[in-house]
Amino acid sequence: MTSSKWVKHMADLQDLYRQIILDHARNPQGRGLIGSLQDGGVAQSHQVNPTCGDEITLRAHVMRDRSGDVRILDVSWEGQGCSISQASSSVMTELVIGQTLTQVEDLAAAFRSLMDTRGGTVDPQVEEQLGDAAAFAGVSKFPARVKCALLAWIALRDALLKATPVEGERHG
Ligand code: ZN
Repeated sequence: MTSSKWVKHMADLQDLYRQIILDHARNPQGRGLIGSLQDGGVAQSHQVNPTCGDEITLRAHVMRDRSGDVRILDVSWEGQGCSISQASSSVMTELVIGQTLTQVEDLAAAFRSLMDTRGGTVDPQVEEQLGDAAAFAGVSKFPARVKCALLAWIALRDALLKATPVEGERHG
């Protein structure tokens, strides 16, 4: 790729990333708490980001499958705040539903590493692993906004720590 083509490629990528964040902020996935805290395998976490005023209440539903892996059946949330916090909650929800806790830990670590790049080069492997969540790469340039993007991930981690998975034989 010539350098001018590379610059064009990067500009297109930034446009694409901006569009992904806007789409998720306008049409958030997983918004609106579902189920009840009394349901088995369900736990909830409330987190605030005082520097920006973002707030999230996130509910996770986990199940242990037959192979012994704990898997996320569902994530739903209610929140308010800036478009970065809302879009990040939405993208994360899409990314983690159906994944095992081990996979979610890997994704969370990848997202944290993305936020640590401070606007620098993103590891292509991290980018591929994160899919739409890689769109937040530009946020890493702004330390105050990193907290907005991480809020949902912090809430998810806390909810997963509190959750006792139901044993999943019901699909059998
Ligand atoms: Zn914010």
